[in-house]
Amino acid sequence: MASNGLQPAEGLNGGYAKINNWKAPGSAAFNFKSDTTTTPTVAMLESITYTTLLDDVTQHDSTTNDLQTWVAGLLGQPAGLLTSSGTMGNQLAARAHLTNPPYSVVADEGSHILSWEAGGIAANSGALPVPAKRTNGRYITLEDIQAVAILHDDTHYAPTKMVSIENTVDGVGVPVAECARICAWAREHGIKTHLDGARLWEVAAANVARNENANEHNLRAALEKEIHAYGNLFDSVTVCFSKGLGAPIGSILVGSEVFIKQARHVRKSWGGGMRQTGIIAAPARVAVEDTFFSGQLVRSHEVAKRIAKSWTDKGGKLTAPVDTNMVWIDLSSTTRQQVWLAEAEREGLHVYGGARGRIVVHYQICEEAVERLGRVFDKVIAEDRSSVVTNGVKQGEFGGYTAIQNQAKYTERAGDGDEV
Ligand SMILES: *Cc1c(COP(=O)(O)O)cnc(C)c1O
Repeated sequence: MASNGLQPAEGLNGGYAKINNWKAPGSAAFNFKSDTTTTPTVAMLESITYTTLLDDVTQHDSTTNDLQTWVAGLLGQPAGLLTSSGTMGNQLAARAHLTNPPYSVVADEGSHILSWEAGGIAANSGALPVPAKRTNGRYITLEDIQAVAILHDDTHYAPTKMVSIENTVDGVGVPVAECARICAWAREHGIKTHLDGARLWEVAAANVARNENANEHNLRAALEKEIHAYGNLFDSVTVCFSKGLGAPIGSILVGSEVFIKQARHVRKSWGGGMRQTGIIAAPARVAVEDTFFSGQLVRSHEVAKRIAKSWTDKGGKLTAPVDTNMVWIDLSSTTRQQVWLAEAEREGLHVYGGARGRIVVHYQICEEAVERLGRVFDKVIAEDRSSVVTNGVKQGEFGGYTAIQNQAKYTERAGDGDEV
């Protein structure tokens, strides 16, 4: 021990360093609950020390302004607005789009905007939430939306004035061609379109990885092309910096100048106007560069596929296709669920329970965690062979995931945090 009380730091020019929480592999390395658990990097911390510190309520902070313009441009939109959370971005979008009640909003029945935002669509915008069912077991289609949309002006009903498409839902991407069909139809009927792209970065990465022509040299251009292709179809888009990208805080809402001006006004009235937001904007930009454009998400999808293969090789079934960074394993027997939770805890892994076995992979998951997960799988499969007890939950081909089931799941695990 040195006389100043600090431990000598290995490999740091023989100097002394304080232990800090910004260094990989951090607390997220063994956490499969959500990509929200990713922790910011030293580069993100450093960007905070160099950021501008001017007032964003008066729109004087250039780091924030630049981030807004840059991300809006990536998504093919004219303007952007930094928000404290993705929820705030989605809620602002609805409040700014919906102007003449009565009206309804159509979205996927399991979507964040309908089922995971504390009823905000009704409370903040006075809109009737209308859930649409995914009938192909993968992603929402135009036909699914048409089946529930209200286009007539019969006074008994609340006409559909906004459609929100979440991409991804449960880790499965909606193809750009399907989004184009939905947006063209909506425009024809005077319906505003919103893309909840909290995990749109994952969709872009997966699409690029599927394209055989993509390689290290054109990775950036290919990712830009994907993000842009989705972004410019919609009237508004939200994307998150604090999920798989690893920034500490923040999301952004993008759209037309007029729309963003209105959203900024409402944001202020909700108490969401903040002052020195450079400390949020600077690391958010590093997150887009260092995690997204460097290809980290592509690599985490490879890990997700390896995890899924390890489960199915051992005889397990999947309850949803592995398209991006999520793996859903069939835990539809009570014994399986018990063994899953107990063995994961014994291995020091953080996982959720539930019959559909959600596993979220992110770029900070370490190899050791994947190995431990394999051992947990062995125990779950072995235990299951000696038991046939089920909990009575009926699963569709890829499991039906409804708002009602969401409510039930939440009640089951109150106190275990949100499945976001
Ligand atoms: C996480 C998430 C959000 C926003 O979440 P916040 O915790 O409010 O930032 C919005 N939509 C989807 C689909 C999400 O997964």
